[in-house]
Amino acid sequence: MFVDVKDVIKEYPTATALRGVETGIERGMWCSIMGASGSGKSTLLNIIGGLDNPTSGAVFIDGTDITAMGEDELARFRRENIGFVFQQPHLVPYLNSVENVMLSQYFHSLTDEDEAREALKRVGLGHRLHHRPSQLSGGEQQRVTIARALINSPRLLLADEPTGNLDRENTRLILELLKKLHTEEQFTIILVTHDPFVSGWAERVLTMEDGRVIKDEPRYC
Ligand code: ADP
Ligand code: MG
Repeated sequence: MFVDVKDVIKEYPTATALRGVETGIERGMWCSIMGASGSGKSTLLNIIGGLDNPTSGAVFIDGTDITAMGEDELARFRRENIGFVFQQPHLVPYLNSVENVMLSQYFHSLTDEDEAREALKRVGLGHRLHHRPSQLSGGEQQRVTIARALINSPRLLLADEPTGNLDRENTRLILELLKKLHTEEQFTIILVTHDPFVSGWAERVLTMEDGRVIKDEPRYC
């Protein structure tokens, strides 16, 4: 398995978010995580991405136990292997599209403006290179974050409600873009959503309830 989640439990002082999650995700798979608000989807995704630690259990990515890594090692692993897309674009307001993409690239290696421009062209923003976030639509801002997530050629793309703030048309555009990139580069996608229209684009759907995976089914699209 490319991503192996081994009996992950996450306890907060006030709540138990994950009650023993055990699952594996194959390389090149597009997997959705569905479930009601509070069922533990974001907690699971954050632990898979090394943004949060489990209380017990482990997460292996391509055979490496990321839950055993120290802070620095984990930060480095994340920026080299994982791309993140969240519901809120989190773009720097005073930087334009190219600069926002380069910011992420900077942490990886040397910045390369041509590469950032190419990434933006790939997500259909060749005509918005020098616009700042406030000059872009919500759908365009989300495409900048996808360019930013993919600039370091991650093997794993983690998305938490990436279309949560978008209308149906922009949602469809983002999903078509992810599908094209997924098909061309075979990267593994784990996408959290509570929207059945969005989860239907995946090849596999995990459903969570109260900190557990209660359903795991293939999808054909
Ligand atoms: P979902 O993404 O499915 O809506 P979450 O993973 O965000 O669910 O939350 C799962 C449970 O864990 C909820 O009960 C939530 O209140 C709790 N929780 C999440 N993050 C924290 C936190 N940082 N501190 C305390 N409780 C949290
Ligand atoms: Mg959530």
